[in-house]
Amino acid sequence: MGKALIIGCGGVASVAIHKCCQNSEQFSEIMIASRTKEKCDALKEKLQNTTKTKIHTAKVDANSVDELVALIQKFRPDVVLNLALPYQDLTIMDACLKTGVHYVDTANYEPEDTAKFEYKWQWAYRDRFKDAGICALLGSGFDPGVTGVFTAYALKHHFDEINYIDILDCNGGDHGYPFATNFNPEINIREVSANGSYWENGHWVETKPMEIKREYDFDGVGKKDMYLLHHEEIESLALNVPGIKRIRFFMTFGQSYLTHLKCLENVGMTSIKPILFEGKEIVPLQFLKAVLPDPASLGPRTVGKTNIGCIFRGKKDGKDKTYYLYNVCDHQECYKEVGSQAISYTTGVPAMIGAMLVMNGTWTKPGVYNIEEFDPDPFMDALNKWGLPWKEDFDPVLVD
Ligand code: NDP
Repeated sequence: MGKALIIGCGGVASVAIHKCCQNSEQFSEIMIASRTKEKCDALKEKLQNTTKTKIHTAKVDANSVDELVALIQKFRPDVVLNLALPYQDLTIMDACLKTGVHYVDTANYEPEDTAKFEYKWQWAYRDRFKDAGICALLGSGFDPGVTGVFTAYALKHHFDEINYIDILDCNGGDHGYPFATNFNPEINIREVSANGSYWENGHWVETKPMEIKREYDFDGVGKKDMYLLHHEEIESLALNVPGIKRIRFFMTFGQSYLTHLKCLENVGMTSIKPILFEGKEIVPLQFLKAVLPDPASLGPRTVGKTNIGCIFRGKKDGKDKTYYLYNVCDHQECYKEVGSQAISYTTGVPAMIGAMLVMNGTWTKPGVYNIEEFDPDPFMDALNKWGLPWKEDFDPVLVD
């Protein structure tokens, strides 16, 4: 039994909050706190008669350490689950340090003015978290998140040494719009318009955006084009997997999405540099976000499945071994259960699980850790229990 403060009330938070309420044996009380309190109140209204979890709401500006500290001191949670945006990670970690409360998030810190995600800013908190006797669990979504847990599980149960990891993130869903993003458009477009990169033989190899393309036949989805992207878990896995030679991350995109993105890029709409418009400074990408469909509105209209997982190659008992671990998730099933599409669902469920394991002491150790640094078994069991069952394939088709 414990108390969680959940910051943010968008697509991912909504799923995590539904799941906390389904899991009221663990989450006896939650506080939903976000910039727009009306969203928190609406969710409380929807859920409070369906659960034993006691729900509170508050308005908070997560860029303000003082506001966060005041809220934490008032509610006294056992864990803070950060489901706002990556820009708020450091202020929320600062507030956790000041109040001595554990911290969990799903995405690493990004400065607002540079689209560059790296762990260095959060890893710099290691000693302070250790000295304060509190735990920060970084990246408890799907990717990063489940992909790191899959890696730890593969290493623990199937390999003596993992040499190659290909992370494949396939969204076979169709929302019927010519162009929309499945999670926060600003974060999504910053991610896919950046240069790609992968880890090989101890260093980064950089590619142009969308330069490397492959086709893969995904269980539950079928054949899709996928493109190599930089992705944040590569950085931590490269450090935490002994003997690793290469880690790549591929994500599927449809032709319509890519054509629209190229056009928006060509006309400057994806830029994060502020421009002067009618006497006011605006950021083109933030304006674009305002005119695109809200990811939360895609739920009812998205059909199809996602398939996200990792193909591992390495050695067991001196022999070469290949192992594929993945989850298939159906957009409409998610919508029926929690009112969101599968992208939010596949992130919100692991966020709840990570917060639960830290809150109930299963995963608590003082310091700042990436998810693959914990024992994967309780998390793998919880994935099966809470809606993201995983599948194994010992003879998968490889990506060349
Ligand atoms: P949304 O934009 O739907 O939600 C973000 C929420 O944060 C909104 O409720 C927003 O408030 C709130 N927020 C923003 N700024 C502040 C602030 N200063 N103070 C308080 N609240 C604030 O995003 P998503 O739910 O799609 O994504 C949430 C997080 O999950 C992101 O960090 C994203 O990168 C991460 N993510 C991780 C994935 C993974 O697999 N690891 C996959 C997908 C997402 P308001 O309602 O007022 O806008």
